Amino acid sequence: MQQLIDKFGRKITYLRLAITDRCNLRCQYCMPAQGINIVDRKELLSYKEMYRITRVLSELGVNKVRLTGGEPFVRKDFISFLESLSFNDKLSEINITTNGALISNHIDKLEALNINAINLSIDSLQKEKFAKITRRDVFEKVYDTFEKLEKSNLKLKLNVVVQSGFNTDEIIDFIELSKDKNIAVRFIEEMPFNGKGQREMEEEWNFKKIIGHINNHYKVVEPVLSKKSSTSKNYKIPNYKGTFGIIPAFTRTICGDCNRIRITATGMFKNCLFDGGVFNVRDFIRNGASDEELKELFINTVHHKPENGFIAESARDEDVSESMSTIGG
Ligand code: SAM
Repeated sequence: MQQLIDKFGRKITYLRLAITDRCNLRCQYCMPAQGINIVDRKELLSYKEMYRITRVLSELGVNKVRLTGGEPFVRKDFISFLESLSFNDKLSEINITTNGALISNHIDKLEALNINAINLSIDSLQKEKFAKITRRDVFEKVYDTFEKLEKSNLKLKLNVVVQSGFNTDEIIDFIELSKDKNIAVRFIEEMPFNGKGQREMEEEWNFKKIIGHINNHYKVVEPVLSKKSSTSKNYKIPNYKGTFGIIPAFTRTICGDCNRIRITATGMFKNCLFDGGVFNVRDFIRNGASDEELKELFINTVHHKPENGFIAESARDEDVSESMSTIGG
């Protein structure tokens, strides 16, 4: 079988696909209050195009797909798309990243479709602070989704962006959620993908500071063995049901084991979160590319995947400042 392998020998098996650039929330660390300039609908990949891209990539060894955005559930017919994607037996995992505000009625369906895991973004457990961060009053809805997901058969991870000056006082509260719930809480380093660029911070809450803060609180923090390609370094408090992890998204110490590529909602292929986009798959398809031509393009492009996120960033024309909603986090 033809495979996607870069020049450093890393095998690509994981696609992150953004379903849309639209989002129902306006998280401070992701976009400005007025939102982003969303593209015309016709510029978004159609579901048919997304299905085809995923199928072709799965024939090249991609076996895991994460559907993200924007908010995937704001796009009409997303559930039907999930249904078609679930027929692809080359995919062993379909995962979704969501803010959870629109999904509490869909959980049975997600279970029936054998969705593997849901990553639920929740940056505060306090209603008012949640509203300040997301600029929307949906805490109850998201918390309701959290409780339903926790009781479901779906694996549940919580994504918490650690924001200096906003929610660092809740790091321990989030870990305490894992005491009697089988969840994986993941703390993500904040990055300047916010529509403006790097913001001023009093303190930088990077991996080291986050784990230092946690080590100061608990007597014992046990490391948890994880897959080599895991985005997070994982830990557990003894006798707690769940785990927690830290994603060094900005300090980028995990690039050596990267197995991921991304395709944005407008079809931009990205070898790395920090690159400026390599080529537009949507245009290539709309100009009549065959599956074989697509495969050749994917194989050649992956070959040139940058060694790490710093090298990818240094090759960009502009500084990082685009909203994560345009990329698919
Ligand atoms: N709307 C969905 C959600 O909220 O989970 C999916 C898209 S969102 C862009 C994907 C993930 O990226 C979320 O967990 C979000 O918290 C994270 N994210 C967005 N902007 C970020 C930033 N500037 N730094 C770190 N993580 C960010």
